[in-house]
Amino acid sequence: MKILKKQRRKAPHHGTSLPKTAPKRALVRRKATGPRPGEHEILFLPLGGCSRIGMNMALYGHAGKWLIVDAGVAFMGDEAPGIDSVMADPYFIEQRMQDVVGLVVTHGHEDHIGAIHHLWPRLSCPIYASPFATRLIRDRLKEAGSLGDVRLHSFQGGKEFKVGPFRIEPIAMTHSIPEPFGLAIRTNAGTVFHTGDWKFDPEPGVGQLADMEALKRLGDEGVLAMMCDSTNATVEGSTGSEAEARAGLAAAFAGRKGAIAVAGFASNIARMKAVALAAKANDRKVVLAGRSLLRMEAIARVSGYLDDIPPFMSLEEASWTDRRNLVLLCTGSQGEERAALSRIARDDHRELWLERGDTVIFSARAIPGNEAAIDEIRHHLTKRGIEVITPAEAPVHVSGHPRREDLQRMYRLIRPRFAVPVHGMPEHLEAHASLALSCGVEDATVVSDGDILRVGLDGTELVDRIKPRRLAFDGRALIPWTGPIVPEAEERKAAE
Ligand SMILES: [Zn+2]
Ligand SMILES: [Zn+2]
Repeated sequence: MKILKKQRRKAPHHGTSLPKTAPKRALVRRKATGPRPGEHEILFLPLGGCSRIGMNMALYGHAGKWLIVDAGVAFMGDEAPGIDSVMADPYFIEQRMQDVVGLVVTHGHEDHIGAIHHLWPRLSCPIYASPFATRLIRDRLKEAGSLGDVRLHSFQGGKEFKVGPFRIEPIAMTHSIPEPFGLAIRTNAGTVFHTGDWKFDPEPGVGQLADMEALKRLGDEGVLAMMCDSTNATVEGSTGSEAEARAGLAAAFAGRKGAIAVAGFASNIARMKAVALAAKANDRKVVLAGRSLLRMEAIARVSGYLDDIPPFMSLEEASWTDRRNLVLLCTGSQGEERAALSRIARDDHRELWLERGDTVIFSARAIPGNEAAIDEIRHHLTKRGIEVITPAEAPVHVSGHPRREDLQRMYRLIRPRFAVPVHGMPEHLEAHASLALSCGVEDATVVSDGDILRVGLDGTELVDRIKPRRLAFDGRALIPWTGPIVPEAEERKAAE
């Protein structure tokens, strides 16, 4: 494993004074600094995702051109009151927009697509995404009023497409949202595999299975480097199937006397379906609370992922139904102040209330940084005689990311020469790098946001570094963000 600090060259200078807000449409292009990718190499530059979990955005450079993979946000929670989300400042991209050939999206999670509508039109290049992610991106851009300008293309698993000098084959994976894809990125200097977020789930509940044949074929063909998900690289064993959460929820619902509320991520359509099936098995009807859940349900239904689930009950119908026959699926599993659960817990929701004898199930794990807000909700609920069940007490959640045994299985399939762990805090990346070396890779490099790694037939080398600037959305505008990015050490645990 490489000791990075000694290898780093001096960071280039990018000016001293920051503007108060980032212009939506700048007249003057910021001066380009940094390396130009050659014909015989691939440059990898993570702008986000390699210092904390969230705000994923990476660049691949080859033959003078750059390809962007993902553009996501990180939610700051208690770490930064008044700040909605933080994302990578794409100044390096803007400086060389004429050489940027496209943005390819691995999947529709906010930490992978949530920055697109904020950064548009500053990132005015064609966007490629799965049909499901395309619908999510289109929805957001439309709301932001910028859909008109956007060239948005849907791709299909297994169908290679060309973007500049990059030939991209999306390979179907499983995760905690429909249509996650790993990207085999082929160039004249070799192939890299950007896994995106993934796990191996034989029963994902909705959508595709991981394309094991394509992964094996890719491994046989030969892969120079694998940029792979590190979220659970410190966790032993193998990540369970969504089927376990489905069974766990059905068991948790059984015999409950009062209303049941389940809090989860709106984008987890398999979980939405699991809640519907567990409710049906217990003679209950499901009602959705929260704008993002209703929006996700609509997109999931258009995409055909809820064909076997009858329409959910409206709040109006639910107001005429006994609480013992209802399951409320709501947002707010991370303690978000404005989400349904938080308002219900404080008893200031306009339409919904919980009372003694009801149950609240957190069907999601706390993302690091959100623990205090979740604890506060729990405190409000238990004080009022409402039982709270978390994944620590019952198997009501399964992660969407690979644990150590799953990572080993992936390395056996792909057999990359070099490993570049991504999507994690520094300790996840370190643990992943050690594991990759034990799986037989020639070299594993731990990179941080801003590092420029050269990948070639002769090996990998850190050739440069840019300052990883960040932008924050304060609810109105993007402002330069200079606050801390990495949460306190004791809060660093595997998320989702
Ligand atoms: Zn992610
Ligand atoms: Zn994800």
